[in-house]
Amino acid sequence: MYGEVESVERISQGMIRIILGGGELNGFVPAPFADQYINAYFIPKGAPYEAPFDLEQLKEVKSGFQPRARRFTIRKWDEKSKLMTIDFFTHGDQGHAGVWAQNAKPGDRLQFKGPNGSYSPDSTADWHLLAGDESAIPAISASIEAMHSSKICIAFMVVDSPEQEISLQSDAKLKLTWLHRSKATEPEAVLLEAIKGFTFPSGKYDAFIHGEAAEVREIRKHLIRDRGVDKSASSISPYWRRDHTDEEWRSVKKQWLEDQRKEDEASLPK
Ligand SMILES: Cc1cc2nc3c(=O)[nH]c(=O)nc-3n(C[C@H](O)[C@H](O)[C@H](O)COP(=O)(O)OP(=O)(O)OC[C@H]3O[C@@H](n4cnc5c(N)ncnc54)[C@H](O)[C@@H]3O)c2cc1C
Repeated sequence: MYGEVESVERISQGMIRIILGGGELNGFVPAPFADQYINAYFIPKGAPYEAPFDLEQLKEVKSGFQPRARRFTIRKWDEKSKLMTIDFFTHGDQGHAGVWAQNAKPGDRLQFKGPNGSYSPDSTADWHLLAGDESAIPAISASIEAMHSSKICIAFMVVDSPEQEISLQSDAKLKLTWLHRSKATEPEAVLLEAIKGFTFPSGKYDAFIHGEAAEVREIRKHLIRDRGVDKSASSISPYWRRDHTDEEWRSVKKQWLEDQRKEDEASLPK
């Protein structure tokens, strides 16, 4: 399936909002998850084809020109207008997705598969804990919008500096803390330290934690070992890996998740 760029808007320093419409979006069926995402395909520069393409037929194309698959959260799907909003965090001139978003213009096409998803706020929880970096801002924004007004929602977001903050809306009782790497002595531990230092409200909670792999892993360990998180009602996993392209990350992700599973077992209180 593909959509066409309708509009491009910079919504903060580094974050580009793209609204897709037209194309084949009339047939789009959303998934019943707050964090629903698509697997989008980005075409390398100079490749001898354009969207829409048949992935099977592209098997003949040389590897440097194969489309690059990247996952992106559907920030918003408007069923009436059939418009899909995606917020891309751009991180320099490396990679494919961020660079595509920086150069996108109306009429450009984006082909994708999906959607998939895994998290919706647990309606039996007394409160919700959400934390993440720029890559998780869209999923956290969509999740807190899906929360009931009776719930407490605690959110920690880490970005480089105040210019990268975004306004988030929720019916829930939202307590949002923005954290800044630029002021930190250990930028990669900012999120973990904020969660460690936070006094958790009483009652049942679920957690939605996403972002850089090593950072998320440490937070996961802490929540399982020290905070009795209910893993089955939570979603705590990496979205990207520092110094790895998505292809490099996916090639080691299976082992990473297996190591994480063993760590989970070792972290459980005896
Ligand atoms: C389920 C899911 C949903 C996601 N939703 C979103 C979303 O809505 N918006 C969004 O912006 N991202 C989202 N991401 C993360 C996004 O898929 C990755 O950041 C992806 O690697 C970007 O691809 P790229 O081609 O731009 O860079 P790549 O080619 O993958 O990487 C190039 C270089 O950039 C670095 N890099 C990659 N991502 C980041 C980052 N976020 N910050 C700093 N450096 C980075 C890499 O480590 C590498 O060194 C999501 C990921 C998952 C798994």
